[in-house]
Amino acid sequence: MPEACIFCRIVRGELPAEVVHREAGLVAIRDIQPVAATHVLVIPERHVADLRGLGPEDADLWWRLTRAANQVAEQLGHTTGYRFYVSVGPGGGQTVFHLHIHVLGGPMARLPV
Ligand code: AMP
Ligand code: ZN
Repeated sequence: MPEACIFCRIVRGELPAEVVHREAGLVAIRDIQPVAATHVLVIPERHVADLRGLGPEDADLWWRLTRAANQVAEQLGHTTGYRFYVSVGPGGGQTVFHLHIHVLGGPMARLPV
């Protein structure tokens, strides 16, 4: 439900977050429980529960989300690369049901299993 959704509330400015990048339609914030030196979440402003909620009309949005992930990693100094992952649904370990891309850079734990 977008009213109660944590990331919708962050997008609306109702909950605090450390914003590292913002552009039309998306925001990138620091994860509150980082598992790497850099742990940023790239979040579409529109409420989409998970990756399965994107359609062909969202091709441009998806491209802009991935571009923002690349740009944030670069901006934070991870020029040799970074880890990009998306949890999809409870079976994929998703805990916040508003689509987001994890951007991990620097020393990091292994991916959770
Ligand atoms: P996932 O488990 O893939 O759905 O990722 C959800 C992520 O959101 C986790 O890494 C949480 O630490 C993070 N998270 C939860 N609440 C907040 C919040 N208020 N601000 C920033 N990150 C959050
Ligand atoms: Zn939401």
